[in-house]
Amino acid sequence: MAKKDIDWSNLGFGYMKTDYRYVSEFKDGKWDDGKLIDDDMIVMSECACVLQYAQTCFEGLKAYTTEDGKIVCFRPDLNAERMADTAKRLEMPVIPTDKFIDAVVQTVKANADWVPPYGSGATLYIRPYMFGKNPVIGVKPADEYEFRVFTTPVGPYFKGGAKPITITVSDFDRAAPRGTGNIKAGLNYAMSLHPIMEAHRNGFAENMYLDPATRTKVEETGGANFLFVTKDGTVVTPKSDSILPSITRRSLMTVAEEVLGMKVEHREVLFSELGDFAECGLCGTAAVISPVGKIVHKDGEICFPSGMEEMGPTIKKLYDTLTGIQMGRIEGPAGWVKEIM
Ligand SMILES: *Cc1c(COP(=O)(O)O)cnc(C)c1O
Repeated sequence: MAKKDIDWSNLGFGYMKTDYRYVSEFKDGKWDDGKLIDDDMIVMSECACVLQYAQTCFEGLKAYTTEDGKIVCFRPDLNAERMADTAKRLEMPVIPTDKFIDAVVQTVKANADWVPPYGSGATLYIRPYMFGKNPVIGVKPADEYEFRVFTTPVGPYFKGGAKPITITVSDFDRAAPRGTGNIKAGLNYAMSLHPIMEAHRNGFAENMYLDPATRTKVEETGGANFLFVTKDGTVVTPKSDSILPSITRRSLMTVAEEVLGMKVEHREVLFSELGDFAECGLCGTAAVISPVGKIVHKDGEICFPSGMEEMGPTIKKLYDTLTGIQMGRIEGPAGWVKEIM
């Protein structure tokens, strides 16, 4: 084994082709055994269901090297469960959890040379995904699918410290009540491209989406859940049926409650109460938590007391504890860290 010659700590978040990817095909009502291949190209019909009707979904997780030199990933069983929920909502076949985890393990092992070393801050991003492949012109689900897993090394999310970001409140809605906001479907991202580009053009890092029905409650951003901290140190995360259940956010809530002994609330969060919070962050696999310093909206702005220079103290403690568990420096709840090799 020879690690690739990459300047790990200066990697960005982009796609880089690695040596192997996993593919399993669903045909005649069943999955085949699946295999690793080196060809990164996919050839399919011009009328493939994914191309015409966007029948596709994905997951995202990371593999990384722990302090004692093991390659691990974090709670892949929850990614498998979430992909199963997504698949059902999109009339796609479910990948059994053991097949999903086996595919992740095989792909990471085959690309072990691409897993960044401990301490570099970089990780190997893992992208499991599935799409409807056969030609479909009358609207209906495909009969044939591919489930694939590829990996790509990604750099440290925060280069030179986690500076709080400024976000804005989008005039667009992310997900309808009783729609598809709670599943990880490509379609939720297609419609978010215009709002995020508008936000960037206006100088903001991210969009806060409100609930479409009343526009009074906080939902999430395009790709991360919110976490707030009250002035007396309670961790509050918004609850709604149209929020994607972030594994990072759920893990942070468990860490807050069970490891750090903090008070945790998972409840509806009104936009009008945001000014009462001391800290705000965005939770997702990519950054674990990105601190938010300011929210700009049409009637003014909300500046969190934690400021624009560094993470607030509670978010910092949550961040350090969860990343410590992930990296094997702190003992976490049983079964959270899955050893790959
Ligand atoms: C993937 C995703 C998240 C973050 O989920 P994690 O499991 O923590 O990576 C949050 N919101 C949306 C909309 C997402 O697609």
